[in-house]
Amino acid sequence: MRILVISDIHANLTALEAALADAGAVDAVWCLGDVVGYGPDPNECIARLSSLPNLVCLQGNHDAAAIGELPLESFNHEARVSIEWLHGILTPDSLNFLRSLTPMRRERDVTLAHASPRQPVLEYLLDSYSALENFAFFDTQLCFVGHTHVPVLFIEHGVAINLQIPDAGSEFTLEARCIANPGSVGQPRDRDPRAAYVIFDPEHSTWQQFRVPYAIAEVQSRMQAAGLPGRHINRLEGGW
Ligand code: ZN
Repeated sequence: MRILVISDIHANLTALEAALADAGAVDAVWCLGDVVGYGPDPNECIARLSSLPNLVCLQGNHDAAAIGELPLESFNHEARVSIEWLHGILTPDSLNFLRSLTPMRRERDVTLAHASPRQPVLEYLLDSYSALENFAFFDTQLCFVGHTHVPVLFIEHGVAINLQIPDAGSEFTLEARCIANPGSVGQPRDRDPRAAYVIFDPEHSTWQQFRVPYAIAEVQSRMQAAGLPGRHINRLEGGW
């Protein structure tokens, strides 16, 4: 069984299409949140996601802000500008889609949380210490998160954490308890600008990391035309 695990699409349809084409046929799609925010194609990304088989989608902090469920004060100035732009462009269908999401749920015995199981909306799991604390906040073997835009595996190893950064093309068998992040489709932040996604096979517990290039300049020119912040336009090509 092939489950496509993606996160942080951030309204980047070109990156999403590249990941979907590269992944090929899948049985289900688990999207860990932040479908919108930053990018130029929020309605298009929601429509495309909705067309995918057996979609499970979480609500990220940008998705929550887009429907007024999270105060704009929790974002920096430029992120706020792009969320205010969203308020004027989301269609009623998109708003209904975003309102139907929750930031955490359980699927096939895997805990899914946008940010972390302890704080599913806002906590950044960037280091082993905070990851270790989070193992007390879910009771399944596996927990998949997004939010940091960096692919990583935090594997429980006694009282410590074994941290793995999965390279493109690498495959791990998830045997111990583990918090896993597939990275970001639409705005990677690990200095690799390629769209990130994972194929998870729940029967064999395998986690395969992929990266796929996409036409970044096309996205940048749509962002420019929409008047979105320059810093967000620039960062796409550097992957930061
Ligand atoms: Zn995000």
